[in-house]
Amino acid sequence: MDWEKLALSLRDFRRKLHQHPELSGQEKKTAAAIIAFAESFHPDRIHYPLGGEGVAIVFNGTSTGPAVLIRCDLDALPIAEINDFPHRSVSAQVSHKCGHDGHMAIVSGLMPLLGRQRPQKGKVVLLFQPAEETGSGALKVINDLNFRDISPDMVFALHNLPGFEKGAVVVKNDAFASASKGMIITLNGKTSHAAEPEYGISPALAVAELIPALTKLPQSAVFSDFTLVTIVHALIGERAFGTSPGHARLMATLRAANDSDMAVMTDRATEMVNNVATRHKLKVMVEWVEEFPATVNHPECVSLIVSAAKENSLELQQMAQPFRWSEDFGHFTHQFKGAMFGLGSGKNHPQLHHPDYDFPDEIIIDGTKMFYSIILKILS
Ligand SMILES: [Zn+2]
Ligand SMILES: [Zn+2]
Repeated sequence: MDWEKLALSLRDFRRKLHQHPELSGQEKKTAAAIIAFAESFHPDRIHYPLGGEGVAIVFNGTSTGPAVLIRCDLDALPIAEINDFPHRSVSAQVSHKCGHDGHMAIVSGLMPLLGRQRPQKGKVVLLFQPAEETGSGALKVINDLNFRDISPDMVFALHNLPGFEKGAVVVKNDAFASASKGMIITLNGKTSHAAEPEYGISPALAVAELIPALTKLPQSAVFSDFTLVTIVHALIGERAFGTSPGHARLMATLRAANDSDMAVMTDRATEMVNNVATRHKLKVMVEWVEEFPATVNHPECVSLIVSAAKENSLELQQMAQPFRWSEDFGHFTHQFKGAMFGLGSGKNHPQLHHPDYDFPDEIIIDGTKMFYSIILKILS
């Protein structure tokens, strides 16, 4: 394989994808571009649509064996690009600021390799997943009836990581990215004249009590690993100086390195809110939104990643702590044996979701080689 030639064609493809970004759930043209790219390499099957605009490209091996799924993501973000290079986004308000264009180019690089030579056994499924940023895409793909035909034995994915050396492979056993969920607390009491608050039921003191109590919840000794509660929103009553408030809304994001701590923290938070509400004679409702399970890496898959990195002479970095952010790839590792790894984007590279971020083209081929090595290890 002429790796230099492949690297150039993937760079051009990545820049084309970068120019035409689409938001989560609206990735129609991106899916069409992937399918058009794939067709010239004659895959055995193309599944589309899958859980929305998802695309799965299948290359069958010559004999039966395990199904290996490599996942990347299709969506961009509602962030205006401030870069002015020739491949800048044509959309005023949407751009690829998480590098999903690069992830797609990396996985697309496997098509010429697998098209030229099929795996010896089993099959390779290249999954282009929609709506990662909103956390809804992965589960929709898994629950799509067409996904039954795919039923992977092993799943792999990567995310580029600014702040790490270019091309460094970042790995961790067990928890790789945290679980997270949004908590919405609605408190209802009774308004009264602000001159006579004692005749009403104000939620103000309950909110004042809950903000520090929820924030301190992770300090409780019951948790086995990293946990965090971040208050993200609070609203009490109205801008009305004559009225003592009768209504409040408080929102928090809960994070945990593993799903069992998240379950305990969820129960504790709910119990705490109910107790405070009862004590203040308030009616309470708790809702949970945007739930991401933890991305938990299987040791067998991590060791395949480690040996692939060595084979390709890429720097290896073992992490002690899981990342605090969440990835909806956690839905895959929750149901299938799998692992996610990080690929360094450069120590001083602009951070993910920053308006000046752009995926570094130099690491595309490193990512492709990593996945190709992993595939050959399992299917040869
Ligand atoms: Zn992102
Ligand atoms: Zn991302």
